[in-house]
Amino acid sequence: MTTLPPGFTHELRTHLRSHNPPVDETTGVPILDFNKFCCGAHGFAALIETQVDGDAPQVTLFDTGPDVTSLVRNIDSMHVPVEKIERVIISHWHSDHTGGLLSFLDLRDSEAHACVVDVHPSRPLLRGIAPGPQFNKIICALPRDPSFDDIVEHGGILEQHATGHTVADDTVWVSGEVPRVTEFETGILGGMRWTEDGTWKLEPHIMDERYAVIDVAGKGLVILSACSHSGIVNVVKDAVATFQRPIYMVRIVFPGR
Ligand SMILES: [Zn+2]
Ligand SMILES: [Zn+2]
Repeated sequence: MTTLPPGFTHELRTHLRSHNPPVDETTGVPILDFNKFCCGAHGFAALIETQVDGDAPQVTLFDTGPDVTSLVRNIDSMHVPVEKIERVIISHWHSDHTGGLLSFLDLRDSEAHACVVDVHPSRPLLRGIAPGPQFNKIICALPRDPSFDDIVEHGGILEQHATGHTVADDTVWVSGEVPRVTEFETGILGGMRWTEDGTWKLEPHIMDERYAVIDVAGKGLVILSACSHSGIVNVVKDAVATFQRPIYMVRIVFPGR
């Protein structure tokens, strides 16, 4: 309902113009179908569309939200052409980013249109939370992330990357592990990892977290960092060191303390 900056459109207007809402029989006016509106959820998912000159657009999904319904509902509400999404980048192994992955893959016809799932190889068995001030009592675990086998069984083509690489016809860069250079960004306090030897270990740094960068013509770098457990200053320093380009925009969900 607020005034939008240039280039943005209200969802209500898009819904009325493009989504064929039902029409009231008595008055003949369209009725808003709120079941077809987007929803928010704890976590992150972003659709990245990139294009170089006259080439075909590249559509990449960055994270998949926390659950089996939110991303599916939003893809439906936004009329996203799922078959055109050829790659999903998973920023890191926390289920508020991986929870919608399998239901997303299920939406697609994977035999006709393959989709790469781009992940960091260090998938934990389980991650938990031990809040302060003691950080010694696990109050909960996050839901288990999809396994590598799950991803393949649901039609995804698994790619594991621990280092930086370009994707989407070289229009999007996915980072490797982010060097921790600042003193004040100390990771997520109370982050815990269940290990092979059957114990919880403190794991504040979530080293599997990666960010994505697009160098937008005439603007500069657009950086997508999910929860940025590595610290957003570490992320920006790494991007500047890698590309020597000005930063145009930084998109962050919330700083992982
Ligand atoms: Zn996280
Ligand atoms: Zn998160």
